Amino acid sequence: MIDPALLDILACPNCKTAVKLEGDRLVCQKPACGLRYPIRNGIPIMLIEEAEKPPEQAKTG
Ligand SMILES: [Zn+2]
Repeated sequence: MIDPALLDILACPNCKTAVKLEGDRLVCQKPACGLRYPIRNGIPIMLIEEAEKPPEQAKTG
């Protein structure tokens, strides 16, 4: 589980927008970005290279 106080200070390293816990990952709240960060052993991995792109963006290109 992630501490809500920790969630408050976490931000997407790509766009500096707040992230929200969705299931077992943290999702950037900026629609144009929307990167999804994994949580491993209770520790959010706030790294762009570890993040998944949202499905809508994955279709393009
Ligand atoms: Zn973002």
